[in-house]
Amino acid sequence: MNLILLGAPGAGKGTQAEVICDHLGIPAISTGNIIREALKNGTELGKQAKSYMDEGKLVPDEVVIAIIKERLAKDDCQKGFILDGFPRTVPQAEALDAMGIVIDRVIDIEVADEAIQKRLSGRRVCESCGASYHVDYKPSKVEGVCDKCGGKTVQRRDDHPDTIKERLHVYHEQTEPLKGYYEKTGKLKIVEGQEDVKDTTALTLKALEA
Ligand code: AMP
Repeated sequence: MNLILLGAPGAGKGTQAEVICDHLGIPAISTGNIIREALKNGTELGKQAKSYMDEGKLVPDEVVIAIIKERLAKDDCQKGFILDGFPRTVPQAEALDAMGIVIDRVIDIEVADEAIQKRLSGRRVCESCGASYHVDYKPSKVEGVCDKCGGKTVQRRDDHPDTIKERLHVYHEQTEPLKGYYEKTGKLKIVEGQEDVKDTTALTLKALEA
């Protein structure tokens, strides 16, 4: 199953990607996590991406398309994959098509902007493995410590209020048009994001079956 998760930043794509990854045994691929890893390691890609990311803007299409091309060529993707945070623009979706990749399902997780602001400001992510938590809705068992790998959980630089506003603006302007793009293919399923993560998971798994 080749799957795309669409939705605003903070809609819960990463959380649902982790669940589906366990459920279907296919890798969850987050371009955001790949870029953050590159930043941490001080690579050329990290240096190129830093200013865009810090300002809540999108990294140029050619940079992320090259990242995804390289990642999807790896062995673990041959039986399927979940894309979280890619594509984020119509040219990125067109690039996937041009690679000859057939997408089986696109799940769009819808959450209102006001709820997104609340979610992102309470979000914490693991510095080591990228797992995501929320101080109220999905706390780690021990505060500041990742349940999965024991790494340190921190607030992302781009989860600060002004940057959240810009990211939402960018989402509506550049990413939301992808709904129309995939609706035309008949592969799009809408999931209304719920307050309780478990409820969203139930709806997401149902959308996979349908
Ligand atoms: P995310 O973790 O998915 O919220 O991504 C964090 C940031 O990484 C975004 O705000 C962008 O700056 C950058 N980024 C991640 N994925 C993409 C993408 N597909 N296209 C452009 N920029 C991206």
